[in-house]
Amino acid sequence: MDRTAAGRADIDATGHEKTQVVIVGSGFGALAAAKTLAKSKTPFVLISATTEHLFQPLLYQVATGVLSAGEVAPPIRTILQKYPNADVRLGRVVEVNAEENTVVYEASGTRHTLGYRSLIAATGATQAYFGHDEFEKVTYKLKTVEDAEVLRKQILRCFEEAHTTNDALVRRNLLSFVVVGAGATGVELAGQIKELARRYFAKAINNISADEVTVTMVEGAGVALPAFGGKLSEYTQASLEKSGVEVVLNTMVTAIDEHGVTVSSAKTKEEKRIDAETVIWSAGVRANDFAAVLGEATGCESDRAGRLLINPDLTVGGFANVFAIGDMTSLNGLPGQSPVAMQGGRHAAKTVNGKVKAGTPFKYFDKGSMSIISRFSAVCRVRKVEFKGTIAWFMWLAVHVMYLVGFRNRYVAVMSWFGSFIGHRRPHFHYAQEPMKIEAAPPVTEREPELAHSA
Ligand SMILES: Cc1cc2nc3c(=O)[nH]c(=O)nc-3n(C[C@H](O)[C@H](O)[C@H](O)COP(=O)(O)OP(=O)(O)OC[C@H]3O[C@@H](n4cnc5c(N)ncnc54)[C@H](O)[C@@H]3O)c2cc1C
Repeated sequence: MDRTAAGRADIDATGHEKTQVVIVGSGFGALAAAKTLAKSKTPFVLISATTEHLFQPLLYQVATGVLSAGEVAPPIRTILQKYPNADVRLGRVVEVNAEENTVVYEASGTRHTLGYRSLIAATGATQAYFGHDEFEKVTYKLKTVEDAEVLRKQILRCFEEAHTTNDALVRRNLLSFVVVGAGATGVELAGQIKELARRYFAKAINNISADEVTVTMVEGAGVALPAFGGKLSEYTQASLEKSGVEVVLNTMVTAIDEHGVTVSSAKTKEEKRIDAETVIWSAGVRANDFAAVLGEATGCESDRAGRLLINPDLTVGGFANVFAIGDMTSLNGLPGQSPVAMQGGRHAAKTVNGKVKAGTPFKYFDKGSMSIISRFSAVCRVRKVEFKGTIAWFMWLAVHVMYLVGFRNRYVAVMSWFGSFIGHRRPHFHYAQEPMKIEAAPPVTEREPELAHSA
C-alpha cells in the first residue's frame, strides 16, 4: 500500500518524508506505544533494527531447547498489520536532529531522513562488561534471538562432543558451565542448564550422567537475585544448590578465556581458576548505542550505564516532543523490566495523542516482580506479599503466557511446557542443527598445564 495514501507519512516542502510520530525500536516499550497510537488512529512510523518483537523473558527457553525463536519473537510487522495508521520499517536510526525534528535511519546501506512531530525512543539495553570488552569474544550472552540460538548450539555441541571424546579432561570441560551474574537471567540459565542435563541429555545420551555436568554461578554480591533480597534470595540460593548448581557469592570474575574463568574472592582476594568450555555473561547491562546519539542531540545527561536521565514526564532534555522510555532510561530508580517499558510507552503515546496533559509526570504502577529458578521453583513478590516454590512457578507461567503475543504462540508455549516440564522433551535440540563454536580455540589438553585444572 502506498504510504502517503495511507496517511502515515507525507512529503514536506523540503522533499523529506514527515509523519506525526516516529517510534524507534520494536521491544516492549515501542510496541506498547505503537498499540496506543494505533488505537487512537494517530499516524506513526515505527523503525526497528530487528524485524521481530522479542519477548526477552522467555529467551532462556530458546537457549535451552524448550521453545523455538519464532514462538518468542513474532514479526512486529505482523502484530501491527491490522492498523492502517501504522507504518513499520526495518532500519537502524543513526542520527537525530531535535531542532529540526528529523531522524536519519539506515536500511540496506541507504540513509533515509524522516521528519516527525513527536519522537518516542525505546531502544533498550545490551550487555555491559565493566571495562572488560574483551570478555564479549569469549563468553555467551542472552539478549537477542541470535544470542539464544548461538548458546543453544554451543550447549548441543558440548554434550555431543562429550559423548564421543575419549579424553577425560576434554569431556570434563565440555560438561562444565559457568554463569557470571546471579540476576534473573543468570539464575534462570543456571537452573535450566542443570535441569537440561538431568531431564534431557542424561536420558538422551546413554554415557552421560547428570552428576558429571557442573554449573557454577558466580556473583559479586553476597546473595542470589539481589533485586529481591531477604528470604526470596535465600530460597533462590537453596533451590539452585538443591538442583546441583554451585553458587559462588562475593566473588568477582577477573579473567576469562575460551576455556574458563579466573575468579577472585571479594573478601580474601584469593584467586581460583574454574575450567569450563561455556561461560555465559549475564552480569550487567548498559543502554544501547542509540541512547548516546539521542543524548547528544537533546543535551540530555546519562548515568554510568549510558541510560538517559530523562525528565519525570519521560521527555528528553529540553524537548517536549521527544520521549525516551524503558531500558535506555533511568528515572526514579525504576527497574529495567518490561512493565516499566510498557507503561512508559503508553504514557508517552497518550501524551502525544493528547489523552494525557503534556508535562504530566509518569507514575509507575508496580504489579510485582517474579523470577523463575527451575522446574516448579520460582520467587514472586506482589507488594509486600511474597511467594516461592511451586505456587510462584505457576504464577510465573500464567503471567508469561498472558503477555506472550499471539494466540498461536501462547498455545504452542503451553504445549511445549507440558512436554518439557512434565515430560522430558526438548523439541528444539534437534539434530538438524549445526553445532558451532564461537571462536576456534585449542583444546584444553594443548594448553599450559597450570591452566588445565579445575578449581
Ligand atoms: C534474558 C532476559 C530476561 C528477562 N526477563 C525479564 C522478566 O522476567 N521480567 C521482566 O519484567 N523483564 C525481563 N527482562 C527485561 C525486559 O526484557 C526489558 O526490560 C524490556 O525488554 C525493555 O523494553 P525496551 O522497549 O526498553 O527495550 P527492548 O525490548 O530491548 O527493545 C529494544 C528495541 O530497540 C531496537 N533498537 C535498538 N537500537 C536501535 C536503533 N538504533 N534503531 C532502531 N531500533 C533499534 C531493538 O532492535 C529492539 O527492537 C529480561 C531481559 C532479558 C535480556
